Amino acid sequence: MKAFQLVAQGKPGKFELREISDPAPDADEVLVRVRACGLNHLDLWVEEAGLPMPIQLPRTPGGEAAGEIIGMGKEVQGWKIGDRVAVQSNLFCGKCEFCQRGEESMCLFGQLLGVQVDGGFAEKVVVPARNVARLPETVAFETSAALTLAGSTAMHMLTNRAQVKKGDWVLVIGAASGVGSAAIQIAKESGGRVITTASSEAKRELAKKLGADSVLDSGDAGWPAEARKITGRRGVELVIEHAGGELLLKCFECLARGGTIVTCGATAGREVNLNLWPLFVKQQRLVGSYGRNRADLEKTLEWAAAGKLKPVIDKIFPLAEAGKAFAKLRARQVMGKVVVKSG
Ligand SMILES: [Zn+2]
Repeated sequence: MKAFQLVAQGKPGKFELREISDPAPDADEVLVRVRACGLNHLDLWVEEAGLPMPIQLPRTPGGEAAGEIIGMGKEVQGWKIGDRVAVQSNLFCGKCEFCQRGEESMCLFGQLLGVQVDGGFAEKVVVPARNVARLPETVAFETSAALTLAGSTAMHMLTNRAQVKKGDWVLVIGAASGVGSAAIQIAKESGGRVITTASSEAKRELAKKLGADSVLDSGDAGWPAEARKITGRRGVELVIEHAGGELLLKCFECLARGGTIVTCGATAGREVNLNLWPLFVKQQRLVGSYGRNRADLEKTLEWAAAGKLKPVIDKIFPLAEAGKAFAKLRARQVMGKVVVKSG
């Protein structure tokens, strides 16, 4: 089969479309014919050696895969050849104390698809059967590839790590990102009022189309003050952010008393100087979020099938041109998601 593999890390890294042997499923694994796979910032970190873990090369990146089951090990039950599936990128063990209580995002033995094991930028991928979810008939492979990772990340942040409520003011950082575009839709669908940030006119237009009530220019240093003004100076109840660094501190400037910031990333910096005085005086929360639980993924697919959560797809590249998808995301020219189609 063909696989788009990283052969040397760097910025940019060196990729090759290689012909490799088909992966063989173990007793508890399924072999999936990949139809589409979404690209995420995580893939860029794999490319540029930006993760605090060694990556074995060559490595096939891609965590957001969707396709059909074409083979399985002898212990697999409940699935048949031809079933349409979405792969849960945080491969969980299913046995540890967290998995047993439905908190697969905290799995003690979790592995990331496309990071520690070969991922979906290939014609085929093997994963444990417990890590695939049924893809509703009405949800296209491309839709799944654009929603399962970022969409379920946002679902986990807004409905599990925090609970968005009707009437809440929600600040979503980065409207045009995968997580941001999904978070806006989930917050609105849950009855929230959304303020969001975006760096260009085109991205701000997209934010309005997604239903945001107020869209701020992230290039304007005064945006936190503007957010406070919109909320009648009281601040927002909930912030959904994935940038970290100085941007995280800016989010505290527009957080209401008792408000919560949920963060799931640190693309803008992993260390911050946080002033704890206002944090405890205003009784605010800073909550970490990582990956998603099984239930978050299933809810994301249900919402997609019901038309409540729509993907924002910027461009679809064929597998042979996956390198262009990496370049586009690296250049920060993506509105929503880029997806790689492998047949
Ligand atoms: Zn586990």
